[in-house]
Amino acid sequence: MADSTIDEQAAPDPCTACRGSGSVVSNIGGTAHTVTCPWCDGGGLYLRGHDAQSRWREADDSKPV
Ligand SMILES: [Zn+2]
Repeated sequence: MADSTIDEQAAPDPCTACRGSGSVVSNIGGTAHTVTCPWCDGGGLYLRGHDAQSRWREADDSKPV
């Protein structure tokens, strides 16, 4: 009688970087502008294993807003 109906993979986590909006504000270049969220590729859902940092490696002043 195992009550294990909770499936971790049944409901994907919302992307925390963009809070599910699919876009984030980047300050690359000194000007704030909206870009497609690299963490979820605009889908608004957290992608396990998605290496967003590889794309933003040199943008240390960018952050999700
Ligand atoms: Zn996102």
